[in-house]
Amino acid sequence: MLPTQLQSALAALDAQGLLRRRRVLDGTQGARVRVDGREYLSFSSNDYLGLAGHPAIAEAACQAAGEVGVGAGAAHLLSGHHRLHHDLERELAAFVGTPAALLFSTGYMANLGVIQALLDRHGEVFEDRLNHASLVDAALLSRAKLSRYPHLDLAALEQQLAGSRAQVKLIASDTVFSMDGDLAPVAELLALAERYDAWLYLDDAHGFGVVRSERHGGLAAQANSVAQASRLHSAPDAGEDACATGASLFHANPSLIYMATLGKAAGVSGAFVAGSAELIEWLVNKARTYIYTTAQPPLLAAAVSASLKLVAHETWRRERLHELIARLKAGVVGLPWPLMLSDTPIQPLLVGDQHAALALASGLKQRGILIPAIRPPTVPQGSARLRISLSAAHTAADVDELLAALHGLAHG
Ligand SMILES: *Cc1c(COP(=O)(O)O)cnc(C)c1O
Repeated sequence: MLPTQLQSALAALDAQGLLRRRRVLDGTQGARVRVDGREYLSFSSNDYLGLAGHPAIAEAACQAAGEVGVGAGAAHLLSGHHRLHHDLERELAAFVGTPAALLFSTGYMANLGVIQALLDRHGEVFEDRLNHASLVDAALLSRAKLSRYPHLDLAALEQQLAGSRAQVKLIASDTVFSMDGDLAPVAELLALAERYDAWLYLDDAHGFGVVRSERHGGLAAQANSVAQASRLHSAPDAGEDACATGASLFHANPSLIYMATLGKAAGVSGAFVAGSAELIEWLVNKARTYIYTTAQPPLLAAAVSASLKLVAHETWRRERLHELIARLKAGVVGLPWPLMLSDTPIQPLLVGDQHAALALASGLKQRGILIPAIRPPTVPQGSARLRISLSAAHTAADVDELLAALHGLAHG
């Protein structure tokens, strides 16, 4: 792209209906937001537990700012690794039941850093086709061979693994797929990773703090127990059990790597990678997106720490989410657009045609409801959808308002 080409390229995007524009949010993130100067009921954030605007988290950040200032002032390996970062890493490791954890500034950087630290051009990365863009970019940046398998197609994955001559293999998967809301078969992926001597890298960006562990049952529950520890859904002591299982799972599977982001359900910012102590030490030494960047402001670590307490103890947030999911599913009956198969707060309403999806999103917007239309190339041709994203900040009345608007648009 030459400087002189930008103008016409932008005009071309606009003509195809593909130009993206940002909306300006005023005030706090939440169920009701002020966007471009107008109030909306929003189903468009990843703030699944409704913590992004929580006063206790803001208070923790403010208090830390008062005590230690704002800027970290240096990278972690120089003088930027603050006591608050260090303590949070221990807390996160205990939270998910792993021996160690490492903070990154964003999930994108965590994915880039880990995969590049473990593989070079002699390696091979195996990825679900619907993985997040950052996992694809991470594989490309590592210069390893990238093999993508059809969504959830374990037979295809196994064939690729069996045929691989790579020295180092790594399977990477979202645990909850961001545009579909469905779950990866973690136990089966773990079994394949063991059979073919591969790393298993689980990106739990949309599961951390949200997905209820008992959903997986049996063997899967065992394999999912890594993530389970962060998905405390009942009494805190159930969490401790999950931590214990998580720890033994990691002990038995040193090739398991867990990554979760802290800007979605946790409501703050950043990400962490959890795994064996050796893995974390290797990353401290080799992950370029960890080494060559300024540490996050330590006040964010204090904010995450406050958030983790809410995630663990305010179990009503997960219960509320599951009630809202059930209410939405029951209420869409009779609409011309089905919900996709998902039990997570990501509830995509499948419209199909991209123009129809845009029209529906704009009809809702006129009724004061904000939901993004997701179009190709983000999703396959003919599967444009409204990505309804539920939050514990929503009430039953909010879901009813959405359902009434959808029925009105379908029949009006
Ligand atoms: C959001 C997301 C990321 C990136 O995390 P950030 O902290 O927002 O950079 C990575 N993986 C998945 C699956 C995500 O949804």
